[in-house]
Amino acid sequence: MPELPEVETQVRDLQKIVGRRIFALSSNTKKAFTPAFAKFKKKIENKKILAINRRAKFIIFSLSEKLVLVAHFRMTGHFLLARNSIPLEKSIRHFLKLSGGVWIQFSDIRKFGTLRLVSEKDLEKLPEIQKLGIEPFSKSFTLAKFREILRSKKGRLKATLLDQKIIVGIGNIYADEICFAAKLHPVSKVEKLTKKGMENLFHVIRNQLRKGIRNRGTTIGEFVDVSGRAGKNQNSLFTYRRHGQPCKICGTTLERMKIQQRTTSFCPVCQKKF
Ligand SMILES: [Zn+2]
Repeated sequence: MPELPEVETQVRDLQKIVGRRIFALSSNTKKAFTPAFAKFKKKIENKKILAINRRAKFIIFSLSEKLVLVAHFRMTGHFLLARNSIPLEKSIRHFLKLSGGVWIQFSDIRKFGTLRLVSEKDLEKLPEIQKLGIEPFSKSFTLAKFREILRSKKGRLKATLLDQKIIVGIGNIYADEICFAAKLHPVSKVEKLTKKGMENLFHVIRNQLRKGIRNRGTTIGEFVDVSGRAGKNQNSLFTYRRHGQPCKICGTTLERMKIQQRTTSFCPVCQKKF
């Protein structure tokens, strides 16, 4: 599933279509739309794209007439930019024809991706937006704030990292990499983290996400940028899906376990459990 760095990579690429007008929408997977397709199509056509931003793993298109398109990739979604409506991939579900001879194609093998159209004032009222935790790159995410958040939490470190109500954007890939980079076992209890441990974790979270963005995402499966190019972060992973292979630091065979039904890979030597 695309996580913060993958969604951020797509959003930054999509900035180049800001200012274009949406001429037409077509789809072969109409269940993705809220409101229902016919109403959605009528509302979005002829609107201008004023801005494109990310909130957690949502892609937020600000449109003219105070409308907002809220897209989510879920398992396998991504946008592609094209010069025509010839599908760039087999799994293209939706097409948006824009001014200037540009098409947005939405690829989604598993068909779990969603597109929602709301008014600007209703965006913050959406339950899935309301329940989101803090953005790791926002000004309000400071070390003091992070300590305050963690002090009120109990449980396993990896489960805490995956919880979108606490910090947004971290999924299975970056959670495993963050635990390894912080030298913490994924089942470590967050309530037992030392002050120093919290500080280290705070920096590791941002560094790992930044590294993912710099590498234009992790491509294991479907993720590509809007030009169809794979990311590079999969080439420099330390633990994610590497169980059975030697630790790149100490050579010990990496182990795996399930945490919240998610396969978790870790080094039993480098990562301290407490
Ligand atoms: Zn190791």
